[in-house]
Amino acid sequence: MAPPLKVLFVSSEVAPFAKTGGLADVVGALPKELRALGLDVRVAMPLYAGMPWNDLEVLDGMLSVPMWWGAARGRVRVGRLPDSEVPVYCLEYNRYFDRPYLYGPPAEGYSDNLERFTYLSRGALELCKALGFIPDVIHCNDWQTALVPIYVNTVEWMQPLHGAATIYSIHNLAYQGIFDGNALFITGLGREHYNPGELEHFGALNLTKGAINHSTLLSTVSPTYAREIQTGEYGCGLDGLLASRSGDLVGILNGIDTDEWNPATDRHLPARFDAKSLGGKAQCKAVLQKEAGFAIRPDVPVFGVVGRLTSQKGFDVLAHALGRILGWDVQLVLLGTGDPDAERFFAWADGNHGDRFRAWLRFDNGRAHRIEAGADFFLMPSRFEPCGLNQMYSLRYGTLPIVRSTGGLVDTVTNYDEATGGGTGFMFSTLDPDSLANTIGWAVSTWYDRPHHIDQMRRRAMAQDFSWARAARAYHDLYLRAYQRRRGHAFAA
Ligand code: ADP
Repeated sequence: MAPPLKVLFVSSEVAPFAKTGGLADVVGALPKELRALGLDVRVAMPLYAGMPWNDLEVLDGMLSVPMWWGAARGRVRVGRLPDSEVPVYCLEYNRYFDRPYLYGPPAEGYSDNLERFTYLSRGALELCKALGFIPDVIHCNDWQTALVPIYVNTVEWMQPLHGAATIYSIHNLAYQGIFDGNALFITGLGREHYNPGELEHFGALNLTKGAINHSTLLSTVSPTYAREIQTGEYGCGLDGLLASRSGDLVGILNGIDTDEWNPATDRHLPARFDAKSLGGKAQCKAVLQKEAGFAIRPDVPVFGVVGRLTSQKGFDVLAHALGRILGWDVQLVLLGTGDPDAERFFAWADGNHGDRFRAWLRFDNGRAHRIEAGADFFLMPSRFEPCGLNQMYSLRYGTLPIVRSTGGLVDTVTNYDEATGGGTGFMFSTLDPDSLANTIGWAVSTWYDRPHHIDQMRRRAMAQDFSWARAARAYHDLYLRAYQRRRGHAFAA
């Protein structure tokens, strides 16, 4: 039997080991599905503080990673993605990664992030050589790994790794890895690569631009976002470049981890439920109301919000609409961390409307599950949304999403049709406090006036298939296409 397609994922976060957002969920789940399709998939990431160091096996020998100042020698520890055989190689280099945060304190990046993720990118390639694992495809994710396709094309020239096809996945184009042009030396790349056809963008070093120019094929996490980022409104300055590679850019909707997010088995919930028996959901709602310190009332609609408090997520718009929303007989719970001004505002609102608004300003996975399960509606007024996972969790938990029509939200939610009761959620397009409040008002009136529609939508939402199996097949096709492009012949399985 011919050997399977060999794929290395490189990522700065991988659930459950280290997570700040949706990227970690993707790299925690997709490799398992690809493995189930028969691919030899492995993952490389940094070893951060807070990871289960002692549960990881220490590999013999030291990895030597060329850095601008000399060879950085670090250990490699290996674990597995839960319930799978997928190896996760964790690059240990304490000077870079043994810190309280993955990227830096809230709203700041560590000043040496370029150096830290140069280590990850270069280290992932050195790891392959040390393991004797020469991947057919290297799947890179966001700017922290954007140097990988460039190294494959440059420092690996005439070496086995030069044959690897590279996929660059854009999980969020707002984070591009932009640094002062004078910092180029840290990457080890020569000045000849600092030009507009490679890494230079309006006088700065832009790692994402470099990856878009150097990767075999490109992907992003939903079909709508793939189209949007080729426009001036969403392209964050790279729309022209992305449009020039339009034929090489595909949008593949993320799946969700249907084991971790399954209302029928979820260990974080006080009661479990499915589309056939929703009694457990009512119990989850009561417990959520109790945790929030609200009146325990089945008749009042509960709205949930979970996410990073950043301008991307439209929390500023929610803040402006909050007074109007809380004027109605509703309850609203928010879980999130991020922008200090937003945190201050929501803490203040929590103090002033304690009977109907609760803000939990921390990261709490169990609570995220209990909000998804216990709420009736889930708010995502995103300014842009590459894919979004929370709306898919909501649908699966029978919690109807109220979303702005952008990015992956368009690809996953269908708008309510008052005439037929069709749809799985509520959508609006103009991002302003009135549109948001009006749409929430529309949901509230539907709740009271047409409860049978809510019931129908809930069951329809819960029947959607957002498993990774579908996405994994699409990535497999993409890998085979990239292989063919890189090598000039098809992969012989
Ligand atoms: P993004 O990746 O842009 O942050 P997504 O919706 O794709 O947004 O994914 C966010 C993920 O992070 C979800 O799994 C969500 O539940 C989780 N999350 C975000 N903030 C918090 C928080 N404060 N507590 C718990 N989970 C959170």
